[in-house]
Amino acid sequence: MAQNSFTQHCRQEADTSALAQKLAFSLSCLFQVDPGTHLNISLEGDLGAGKTTFARHLLQALGYEGRVKSPTYTLCEPYPIQIRSGTSPTAASIIGHHFDLYRMRDPLEWQEAGFAEHFDEPGFCLIEWPEKAEGTLPAFDIRINLISGNDENARNISFKANSSQGMTVIEKMQIQ
Ligand code: ADP
Ligand code: MG
Repeated sequence: MAQNSFTQHCRQEADTSALAQKLAFSLSCLFQVDPGTHLNISLEGDLGAGKTTFARHLLQALGYEGRVKSPTYTLCEPYPIQIRSGTSPTAASIIGHHFDLYRMRDPLEWQEAGFAEHFDEPGFCLIEWPEKAEGTLPAFDIRINLISGNDENARNISFKANSSQGMTVIEKMQIQ
């Protein structure tokens, strides 16, 4: 039976990419059913753990074709994405906002920068270094934690669902 959390060992970046593709597929299914919904996803782990790398593979797997750069200096980068369904001729338009809060000088800087509205828009927010906001962010549907393994390219990546919507996504990842 699917659990509300699971951990996968990734021996190399290609495995991380495959895991990001699974998440992309699950998210696509969710947005096909409910194109107006919003999900908050945290990306946690030390510097160099692979948070930005995971976000890049995810956004590309969702069909974003441009460059995905780290939002270290801008705090937030928007990625418009079209979610296509096999049966429908129309695509759902969503936006993935990728945050890196590492350089915030104040926990509320994300709000002062006008980013609060992104947490309601159709799509999702991916947030690196959520702890810098000291609990001021909206609740997370999914928490992703990346931990370096004993090999240079090895990572243990865990997923935890914190809402029913997050659970739907995590369940679908486990049965793919
Ligand atoms: P963070 O955003 O967590 O600080 P980055 O994604 O910027 O980390 O950097 C992670 C680095 O580790 C990248 O250079 C990436 O190519 C490398 N890497 C090696 N193996 C993996 C793996 N299994 N998963 C993710 N990144 C990996
Ligand atoms: Mg990063």
